[in-house]
Amino acid sequence: MTRKTTPAAPGRTLLAAALLLAVLAAGCGKAGTPPPKGPQASALPSYQVRDAASITGSLTLDAARSRGYLVVGAKEDQPYLGEKNPATGEYSGFDIEIAKMVGADLGFGPDRIQFKTIASANRETALQNGQVDFYVGTYTINDNRKKLVGFAGPYFIAGQSLLVRKNNTSIHGPQDLDGKKVCSAAGSTPYQRIRSQYPKARLIGYDTYSACVDNLITGQVDAVTTDNAILLGYAAKAPDELKVVGPLFSQEPYGIGTPKNDTVLRYAIDDALARNEQNGDWKKAYEATLGLSGEPAPTPPPIDRY
Ligand code: GLU
Repeated sequence: MTRKTTPAAPGRTLLAAALLLAVLAAGCGKAGTPPPKGPQASALPSYQVRDAASITGSLTLDAARSRGYLVVGAKEDQPYLGEKNPATGEYSGFDIEIAKMVGADLGFGPDRIQFKTIASANRETALQNGQVDFYVGTYTINDNRKKLVGFAGPYFIAGQSLLVRKNNTSIHGPQDLDGKKVCSAAGSTPYQRIRSQYPKARLIGYDTYSACVDNLITGQVDAVTTDNAILLGYAAKAPDELKVVGPLFSQEPYGIGTPKNDTVLRYAIDDALARNEQNGDWKKAYEATLGLSGEPAPTPPPIDRY
């Protein structure tokens, strides 16, 4: 098992980045090919900002109120889920919409939310140190993490899967990973599952899945593994180069990470999710973002108010 926290040689990284850009750009230019679908601002719901003065006793919310805005942790390189536009600095995607619908319920309109990119391995520390008020970024709820942080939700269920090059014919599921170079994000549940259940895979850990995908496209690794929701986004953006294969081999219920002891905030977020699921905004948000990678809107999972 190798573990790297930064991509290998800088030259190689630049080449990989250039290739990825070329791959992504190719989709736009080909005659007769529709432009790649991306989150469409027009179809996104606009969430009603509520008066949340009755929510009292949350240290996190009190601090955000006196600061004037919320700081929300997110991902910036996950298509249709959490993506940052490098030109405008704006974030978009399903997780970003979830953050905005929750923010509106807590009294903060979208202009009063500052997003901050936090990698998978750094989420618990960011919540513990107060770097973010809450975190929305493909964050699986599990008992180990619950010792360190709180989780509202779940608001979506994903499952671990595999991304390979389009011309790959040898990998159909995790049982085919022996001796293969498999990349995932350090600190993620898919990384840990490969390490413990498929020890013959040659596991490589980077900070981000986009670094893994760069390495997959250039042939440095044979597969990228993480949640299907994330992988379908990469595949949808480079359909001529990449494909998602095999069955889902885990359940990844996505929660909103909160500071562990702030139960007032956690329950308020649970309420916000429930309200938006009922009023149809959750479904609209899904269809305008993650739904574009090909899966129809599921029924949202029941919220676990522990
Ligand atoms: N849902 C998994 C996790 O929380 C993988 C995705 C991610 O790294 O954000 O570890």
